[in-house]
Amino acid sequence: MTRIFSGIQPSGELHIGNYLGAVKNWVALQDEAEAFFCVVNYHAITVAYAPDELRRRTYEMSVGLLAAGIDPAKCSLFVQSQVPEHAELAWIFNTVTPLGELERQTQFKEKSARQEQIMAGLLNYPVLQAADILLYRADTVPVGEDQIQHLELSRVVARNWNARFSPDAPFFPEPKPRLTPTRRIVGLDGQAKMSKSMGNTIGLLEEPAAMWDKLRPAVTDPARQRKTDAGNPEQCATIFQLHKAFSAEATVAEVESNCRGAQWGCIDCKKVLHANMVAELTPIRERAAVLMASPALVADALDHGAAKARAVAQETMTETKEKMGLPLA
Ligand code: SF4
Repeated sequence: MTRIFSGIQPSGELHIGNYLGAVKNWVALQDEAEAFFCVVNYHAITVAYAPDELRRRTYEMSVGLLAAGIDPAKCSLFVQSQVPEHAELAWIFNTVTPLGELERQTQFKEKSARQEQIMAGLLNYPVLQAADILLYRADTVPVGEDQIQHLELSRVVARNWNARFSPDAPFFPEPKPRLTPTRRIVGLDGQAKMSKSMGNTIGLLEEPAAMWDKLRPAVTDPARQRKTDAGNPEQCATIFQLHKAFSAEATVAEVESNCRGAQWGCIDCKKVLHANMVAELTPIRERAAVLMASPALVADALDHGAAKARAVAQETMTETKEKMGLPLA
């Protein structure tokens, strides 16, 4: 059975970009692979943060994942710091990762340009990412296009470690990317990426009225000034992409024809989208409300996931240390 690992930042409440771009795919994958899903709080501390805020965001992200359909009976869902072997393996991998490979990473260049003082953790972030994946000896990683470079580094780390410590029979697999079926979700303002920091998202758990307040003014095809102007859904990246994600195929075809033929206005089009989003997201919002009111349920789910993950992680560390000549505890 394929074994997959995927992580998500503890950024608080999920937005529909995270949901469509990653989490919905995870929910499908937990039925076909042995899946490890992780809220990566060790990654989150590579930039300045407030501890209470991080605790709250980690909790909210865990609630969102469970409400969206991640099922602790089908996969292992946990918080990264619950499995300390992530940090232990990352240290080991630091010793087989060339510095030049880390300095070349696009995300490091972008993030470090915004920091006054650059901490080593930011540079070593992809090494921890390699440890996250290889701790479970996962062979497949669901990723967006922007994560492919980091995954390539994980492959280099696995290759380097195997060459030194397990040359005859590679111990760590070189993980393969599995591109998420939904491409990057465009922001409500038409910007290339839906991102909380850009304020162009809709929260997964927002009430229908709040959702509509954001959808109504969202950017559409600029050629449609009046209802009678013919439009082109391809020029309306945000709304058309959301229709493709939330509406049935027949509705998507109707959107295309009504838009090109100027048979409805953008508000009509958005009302149909809103109704379909509400239909899919209401059960998620209701599950989240139950979970938010029952912290013990969330803690139990995460503890259960961490225990399953830790059992695999400890096996990996035992073999890794044996091969490296490191005494076991
Ligand atoms: Fe976009 Fe729909 Fe308006 Fe066409 S009718 S521009 S797809 S919102």
